[in-house]
Amino acid sequence: MADLTCRGMVIRTVDYRDNDRILTLFTAEQGRVDAKARSCRKATSPLLACTQPFVYGEYQLFYHKNKYIIDQGEVLESFYPLREDVARFAAASLCASLCLEGVQAEERNEDIFSLLYYTLTFLTYGENDPGDMAACFLLRFLDRAGFRPAITHCAVCGRDLREDPILRFLPDRGGAVCAACSPVGRRVSKTALEAMRRMLLLDDDQLGRVKMKPELRGEILSHLIPYSKGYLPGIEKAAALFTSLNLPAPAETE
Ligand SMILES: [Zn+2]
Repeated sequence: MADLTCRGMVIRTVDYRDNDRILTLFTAEQGRVDAKARSCRKATSPLLACTQPFVYGEYQLFYHKNKYIIDQGEVLESFYPLREDVARFAAASLCASLCLEGVQAEERNEDIFSLLYYTLTFLTYGENDPGDMAACFLLRFLDRAGFRPAITHCAVCGRDLREDPILRFLPDRGGAVCAACSPVGRRVSKTALEAMRRMLLLDDDQLGRVKMKPELRGEILSHLIPYSKGYLPGIEKAAALFTSLNLPAPAETE
C-alpha cells in the first residue's frame, strides 16, 4: 500500500542527477505535493510519461526520509499539444507558476484546482487565444486566492466606479481607483473593467467563451500581470516569458 495515492497536475519539474526529477504536483485534496521520481527520464522508465510538465495523473507515493517518492503513476490527461505550441506553453507556464506560488502544501484547494484543470483544457484543445485564457486565469486565480483587484468600486474610497468617465488602475493601491482618489497613474478603460467583471461570472467549464480583441486583451494583461507580481513575486520569470510572446505593447496612457 502506498502512503499517499493522489490525483494531481505537474506544475513544476526540476531535474537532478542524470535521470531523476523532482515534481511539484497540484492536487485538489492536498494542495501542493513535492515528490521525487527516480530514473524517470530514462526512455525505458515506466514513470517517463507521468512525470512530464502539465500532466494530470494518478500517483502512488511512498514517504521516505521526509520526502515523497513516486512509486507508480498513471496518465489521466497528458495535455500533450501544449508542449508543441510555444505561446500556449508559455500561458500554461504562467498559470502553473501562479499555483506554485499561491497554493499551499497540505491545504485542500478544489476551486483553484478546477480553474487550472479547465484552463489547461481550453489552452490545449480550444480555439481560444492563449492570451485570453491567461488573462481570465489571472483574474479568477487572484479572486480565489483572496487577492481580487478592485474592478467595480474604487480601491481607495469604495465608491461605485461604473458611472465615472476617468479611471486608473494602480497595482499598489489594490486595483481601479476613481479620479478623485488618484489624479495620476495608468488609465484603465471602462470596457476592460466590464470584461473583467464578466470573466468572474463564468463557470470554469465556460472559460472557452472568453474571446477578446487584441487591444482589450493587451490592456487587461498589462494591468493584471504587474498587479499579480505584487502579491506573488515568484511568477516574475514565467510572466516575462509569457509577455515576450503574447502581449502586444499597450498604448501608454499617463
Ligand atoms: Zn476613490
